[in-house]
Amino acid sequence: MRVSQNSAKKVVGVLALQGAFDSHERMLSELDVATQEVRTPQDLSVVDALIMPGGESTTMSQLLESSELYEPIKKMIHEGMPVFGTCAGMILLAKRIFDGRDDQVSFNAIDIEVQRNAYGRQVDSFEAEIQVERLDGAFHAVFIRAPRIVNLSPDVEVLAKFGSDVVLARQKNVLVAAFHPELSDDKRVHEMFVKEI
Ligand code: GLN
Repeated sequence: MRVSQNSAKKVVGVLALQGAFDSHERMLSELDVATQEVRTPQDLSVVDALIMPGGESTTMSQLLESSELYEPIKKMIHEGMPVFGTCAGMILLAKRIFDGRDDQVSFNAIDIEVQRNAYGRQVDSFEAEIQVERLDGAFHAVFIRAPRIVNLSPDVEVLAKFGSDVVLARQKNVLVAAFHPELSDDKRVHEMFVKEI
């Protein structure tokens, strides 16, 4: 499905320091959205929105600081830039991280507390059909060493649950998923994000 002409002109950045950024790019391209890999403040300066992919949040945290992207991204998020974090990206956007590294930074952009690798060893990766608000039919969600939202403020809108856990949520310009929507063929969650831009 095509997005509106207006949003097709916007550029969606994909944080490309580490992790599964290429799958997000492919999905955005299939939605006819222009993308930009973001590795430097220069790359960041041309984007209207940003996706933070899955990967390893502790490594991304270090690279965000060494690339000097942390401060400008933080400023843009707090000024209202739409941002979508999946898995490790969700950890980076959270207010508080449990079981992270002591020096791990986060953007404190959404009022949730997350626990890293919270689904334990045996089920550290799994797939599930979830029901997403405003989408008809189930969404096939892939969880890989997923973080769990262990606390969230009433200001955070719940968009999907897996059992009793919130796995897709939004607060203002910040959308987060504990799973990897870029790893299924279903573009509807990305489409939901792109429509907000
Ligand atoms: N466990 C990873 C972390 O803490 C996240 C896993 C993922 O993004 N697939 O960064």
